Amino acid sequence: MQLRVLGCHGGETPKHRTSSFLVGDSVAIDAGAITSSLSLGEQERIRSVLVSHPHMDHVRDLATLADNRCQQGGSTLEIVGIPETIEALRKHFFNDIIWPDFTKIDAKDGPTVRYVEVQANQAADVEGYEVTPVLVNHTVDTSAFIIRQNGKSIVYGGDTGPTEDLWTQINALDDLQALMMEVSFPNDETDLAWASRHLTPEMLSSELDKLTQSDALPILLYHIKPTFETRVLRELAEVRGRNLQILQLGDEFLL
Ligand SMILES: [Zn+2]
Ligand SMILES: [Zn+2]
Repeated sequence: MQLRVLGCHGGETPKHRTSSFLVGDSVAIDAGAITSSLSLGEQERIRSVLVSHPHMDHVRDLATLADNRCQQGGSTLEIVGIPETIEALRKHFFNDIIWPDFTKIDAKDGPTVRYVEVQANQAADVEGYEVTPVLVNHTVDTSAFIIRQNGKSIVYGGDTGPTEDLWTQINALDDLQALMMEVSFPNDETDLAWASRHLTPEMLSSELDKLTQSDALPILLYHIKPTFETRVLRELAEVRGRNLQILQLGDEFLL
């Protein structure tokens, strides 16, 4: 499976972009940095966007992606998420006030955007990938995604504070190639991390104590807040015994 990092930060500056990843060339995970990272041609090849939750840093580029798609006359863009995520997008985002309702505006052979609801713990086919949402612990209903193709799986953790079910499901996987996991705030901002349902390096370390997969498993970290980047990176260096990798913009993996 090909994985490309479009955005991997918990905030934005000219050097930081919010969460967005590309699997192959047709499936995006979250939409924090799609149109700011990809050419029109690359955008047009995206058929589906998996959306973990409706927070702005994960959905913002759905607006500009849909707008470009409509003008390009390309294929219908599928927005895939748990029902709560789809409902929030319908009500608060593509609501004909903040932005047009692109489910009612045609691109080529159908609507510009179509919503696809997927259920927690149920595998669904998305562009030839088997995608299973798993609920995690955030301030709004949020899902992680297990993504599998050709007997290999990766996990995208979404935004989450300390959680349980995700670890149970991760530990049951026998084909896991990489775990993408958030870490946002430094250790002395633990109160803020708890309140906003995010992780600090220490909280991440405690979470990883629940992981029974091999110590060699690549754990790809994203969502560090730019303001706290130096401190979080220093504190992550003190987390031992796991194969932690800090994601960078433009990173590409073959998993
Ligand atoms: Zn969030
Ligand atoms: Zn976020």
